[in-house]
Amino acid sequence: MAKAAGTTVTDTGAAMEAADTVRTIARTQRDRGRRDTRRCYAGGLLRSLSDVLSADAVVVGAGPAGAAAAIHLADGGRSVVVCDKAVFPRDKCCGDGLTTLALRELAALRFDPGAIARWTVVDEALLRAPSGREVELPLPAGGTYAAVAPRCELDAALVDLVSKTGVTLRMGTGFAGLTRARDRTVVELDDGTAIETSHVIAADGMWSPVRRSLGLARSGDLGEWHAFRQYVSGVTGPAATRLYVWFEPDLLPGYAWSFPLPDGRANVGYGVLRADGRKGAEMRVLWHDVFERPHIRDALGGDGVTFEDRVLAWPIPGAVTSATLSAGGVLFAGDAAAASDVLTGEGIGQALLMGRLAADAIVASGGHVDDAARRYEREVRRELFADHRLSAVLGRVLSHRRGANGALGIVAASGTWGRARFARWMFEDEPRAIVATPRRWHRRFFSRPSPFPDPASAAR
Ligand SMILES: Cc1cc2nc3c(=O)[nH]c(=O)nc-3n(C[C@H](O)[C@H](O)[C@H](O)COP(=O)(O)OP(=O)(O)OC[C@H]3O[C@@H](n4cnc5c(N)ncnc54)[C@H](O)[C@@H]3O)c2cc1C
Repeated sequence: MAKAAGTTVTDTGAAMEAADTVRTIARTQRDRGRRDTRRCYAGGLLRSLSDVLSADAVVVGAGPAGAAAAIHLADGGRSVVVCDKAVFPRDKCCGDGLTTLALRELAALRFDPGAIARWTVVDEALLRAPSGREVELPLPAGGTYAAVAPRCELDAALVDLVSKTGVTLRMGTGFAGLTRARDRTVVELDDGTAIETSHVIAADGMWSPVRRSLGLARSGDLGEWHAFRQYVSGVTGPAATRLYVWFEPDLLPGYAWSFPLPDGRANVGYGVLRADGRKGAEMRVLWHDVFERPHIRDALGGDGVTFEDRVLAWPIPGAVTSATLSAGGVLFAGDAAAASDVLTGEGIGQALLMGRLAADAIVASGGHVDDAARRYEREVRRELFADHRLSAVLGRVLSHRRGANGALGIVAASGTWGRARFARWMFEDEPRAIVATPRRWHRRFFSRPSPFPDPASAAR
């Protein structure tokens, strides 16, 4: 179809059809955009007509899922409009940890870690079992297999990359509603703009306003995990350079973490599974207690540690196998499709991956909405479902002290070779359930080079 992204439709038949559709637009319930937009349309149809854009795809949300989708769509020659209610740089409540999966997806976007001032390479992780036993996990030499990147910087750098691909960006502009007419969708933004398109990618996070506007929100959904995070400074203990995961008995199968940042800072937090019915407020009161525990204090460096700003909390959805992946012309990606790993709560790699799968499905379908949805669902099933199921099983093992002690005991006893492989598995260098899915086997099992090799290794 398409006019270039951002092209204003004037007096064509398409404009009239779009205007008809705009009159019947289904607006997101309850939100502020509803009143504002009504006012805008009441102000005159001419204004709405001049604000009707057209694009092959509209991406709602410019976090990792949305940014990846936009870049891959642009690479595939599609015109794209990306909107986000936030203006970047913006913070996102997160541990800031990047797994090898996330790094591989970033590399596929031509992402340059040099764009992130506080990019921190992780060489070693330390896991502590509920029994107090500690297991060191070395990551391979020769490049980066795990890193920490503050989301404030990472997401802004991704949006910057999007802006260089010719995609139209509408930052600070929220999604307000959408309607479908035949195989076309009109997306309405909260500044009154309407965009006529074939495909919408909902990459709008855990609370996905797009999903809610379609009446597809999971009722009572609070996410599978609830996680808390804060930055600390004055870290002088080993956590200044090492990544820590503490399986505290009262957090199981959740865990507390410290992820290192430059200049004696770290991202610390914990995540707790909601399945046992725990409420956010109950989990929050544990905060000071957890970070006062002697082994955690010692790792951070004791009295000199300062907690910056305030504790933030946010849900993590990990239920991709039962999530709605597509509806009409809409494909859901990342947290909007509940795609975080239900074992670890990591979701950046999954979000980047799903953004790519959604873009690839749209490009391959040649504008056919149903075909894009079929392709997307098939690929998401292939790439994520077996891993999700295995993570859920392992999560049940870790939910008991004995299971967690036993699992870490096996890792500790597996020798240097075994621990190095486990580290690569834990950081998703291969899909979680790779052993159970022969179709994904390849010759360089756990020996693929880093997505960001050291210059010396890259030259070899
Ligand atoms: C405390 C915590 C710690 C975590 N730690 C890690 C970790 O260390 N590693 C890891 O891999 N994962 C971690 N996660 C999970 C990770 O943060 C998410 O899985 C990831 O951010 C999902 O990316 P996304 O692009 O799907 O959604 P998001 O990053 O949430 O982006 C969604 C975007 O949609 C935008 N949006 C929302 N509403 C609208 C609207 N109406 N209109 C337009 N735009 C809208 C938002 O502004 C946002 O920019 C953690 C999560 C939490 C809560």
